[in-house]
Amino acid sequence: MENKEREVIPSQVQSHDLQGRTSDTPSASRCSAPPPVVEAAGNGKPPSQRGEGPQGGGSPLHDISNRTTKLPRVRQRKAVFFDRDGTLNVDVHYLHRPEDFEWLPGAREAIKYVNDAGYLAIVITNQSGVARGYFPESDVLRVYDWMNEDLESLGAHLDALYYCPHHPHGSVPEYTKDCTCRKPKPGLVLQAIEEHHIDPAASVLIGDGDRDVECAERAGVRGVKYEGGSLLEVVKRALHLFSIPSN
Ligand SMILES: [Mg+2]
Ligand SMILES: [Zn+2]
Repeated sequence: MENKEREVIPSQVQSHDLQGRTSDTPSASRCSAPPPVVEAAGNGKPPSQRGEGPQGGGSPLHDISNRTTKLPRVRQRKAVFFDRDGTLNVDVHYLHRPEDFEWLPGAREAIKYVNDAGYLAIVITNQSGVARGYFPESDVLRVYDWMNEDLESLGAHLDALYYCPHHPHGSVPEYTKDCTCRKPKPGLVLQAIEEHHIDPAASVLIGDGDRDVECAERAGVRGVKYEGGSLLEVVKRALHLFSIPSN
């Protein structure tokens, strides 16, 4: 039996994020539908400014070549995607209570840095504890809300949460499946890219697992493995290394 009525509506999510948001309008989303394919043209997204090919990646299905100038230009944003457990916080298995949440060194400051640098700060996390019946989805949101509340004291915030509640061998039927969003699959990142108009080539995903790096690469985003130490330093280095001079 399918039970998917409660999805966050993407368009609603966007409008919160792109304007000056107050602290308690973070968006959260989980993947349950197949994630949208973002590479294909067709949603008004201009081909990358770093034009490489002559035809800009659009598929010539229905000749749009002389109409493209009329399409609304969608602003391309940049993002730093963060894995959660083991990257932002100490990885206690199946963390689902704010009381158990402990920031890793430099994590809060890293988020602040990302905010100030004009990147979206987006959490991308596997939460198979939901499929395993260890905790409900609402706990994932509760922890996320707590994170944002805690970040307020720094003037920092997370812009969005994307999580996969699934597992192929779960115990809760609704969540037990071979989904397209569990990292290293790129579904969550692709969904975020689509919903927030993110330029993947100008974005970075940081995580402590190989699956994070693989997920990043599969989504066309640069992957950085976090191996301990100050997350702030890792983020600074990543953004510095990867920053593409705009022109
Ligand atoms: Mg991790
Ligand atoms: Zn999933």
